[in-house]
Amino acid sequence: MKKNNLLILLIIILCTIGIITNIFLVFNNIFIKEFKIKTEQIVITEKKYSIKIDRIKSNDWNLNKKIDNINNSIQDIFLKDIRNNKGNLVIDYEYTKYKDIYSFHIRGISKIKDIIKRKDYIVYYDEKNNKVLKQEDLIKKDYGLYTIFNSKCVDYLNNKDYKKYDESILEIDDKNYQLLIFSNKEIRILIINNNKEISIPIEYVYVKEYLNKKYFKIKKDIKKEVKNEEIVVTTDKEETVQEDVDKTEDLNLPKYLAFTFDDGPALDITTTLLDGLKMRNAKATFFVLGNRAKNQVDIIKRMIEEGHVVGSHTYSHKNLLRLSLDEALIEINSTNDIIANITGNKPKYLRPPYGNYNKDILDNSNMTFILWSVDTEDWKKRDTELIYEYIIQNANDGDIILLHDLYPTSVEGVLKAIDYLSTQNYRFVNIEELFNKKGIIAETNKSYRYVR
Ligand code: ZN
Repeated sequence: MKKNNLLILLIIILCTIGIITNIFLVFNNIFIKEFKIKTEQIVITEKKYSIKIDRIKSNDWNLNKKIDNINNSIQDIFLKDIRNNKGNLVIDYEYTKYKDIYSFHIRGISKIKDIIKRKDYIVYYDEKNNKVLKQEDLIKKDYGLYTIFNSKCVDYLNNKDYKKYDESILEIDDKNYQLLIFSNKEIRILIINNNKEISIPIEYVYVKEYLNKKYFKIKKDIKKEVKNEEIVVTTDKEETVQEDVDKTEDLNLPKYLAFTFDDGPALDITTTLLDGLKMRNAKATFFVLGNRAKNQVDIIKRMIEEGHVVGSHTYSHKNLLRLSLDEALIEINSTNDIIANITGNKPKYLRPPYGNYNKDILDNSNMTFILWSVDTEDWKKRDTELIYEYIIQNANDGDIILLHDLYPTSVEGVLKAIDYLSTQNYRFVNIEELFNKKGIIAETNKSYRYVR
């Protein structure tokens, strides 16, 4: 008897396990589905207008809802615009994939009378986790990122004669970078110009540090490519990839950094900075604005007396790419005159506002353009510790470091970094000295991001 009972118990246990497993599998099928999409066509024909939609239909309710919201808002705008006119609206989509991430590009193009209007959206979807993503889940929205995007767009459009395009697309503005497509090969920045798409490719390595590591695994290290060559932004040649030459870290050899301060002078803050640099016997470079410099003669004179270099940041900080060549040269030359009146010498070095310029401006400037290799983003951080940390972690021999003498936190951060880095065999030189120390002659009509 006892043996039979045991057998029955065993059978019951096995059956229970079986049932539970089955229930689990059924649930699994319901909740963890393989992601599928198809296209559903909707055609609405009325007397005055027609609407044709290629609508993405997936087996994920959240994604469908997101897509429907976009389609509806495009339709609403169209129906509001149409009034008593005749017209039509077409909404369609295409998609691109990077690993498990879909970038759905939804386009709504309407034509009312002869006026074409267009609306573009990108929806991101993570197939693996069945999740609709926001752009910031994939890539950090950041001024530094936009600076990179901007320089790539400027390069790309310059090659294709950007003058045909609306120049506001060349500004560093997050509005310009809403439409990002992630493909297996690269990121594509989609810019809509006169209702046409311009798709600007950027390799992942260039923006590696801004990508969410959860989704992107980018192997190649951009720093190795960039650090060993001088980049002139306007050259037609592709930047060549070089192997990182192992620099023998001889601790006895001093290393040099050029700190640069833009947008000043700002009376009190610049004075505090000059006091701090003097105490530490550190030299720097000030890219001053003409419209500030002309009213701050004494502080400019002090900069020169104390061994700093005064460079130009143009007269009024305009985006030079939005000006005609003549206008750009006025911004540059008027500032040269202002500085020459104060110091007796025309400045040799120019930092274009936002780092924006093109080959025409460079070729006609008769100046050496100084960009930067370390961007502290001090204007955004406004935090002494963060600025200090960023400098000591990113600065290397020959770097040009971008700061602004507009914020007390920038001054405190840089002075703290100087105190630390001087214990690490670093010397702090102005840009002229940096070229000298590295035995490189600064050429006019050429740009430099670092000197090594
Ligand atoms: Zn500036």
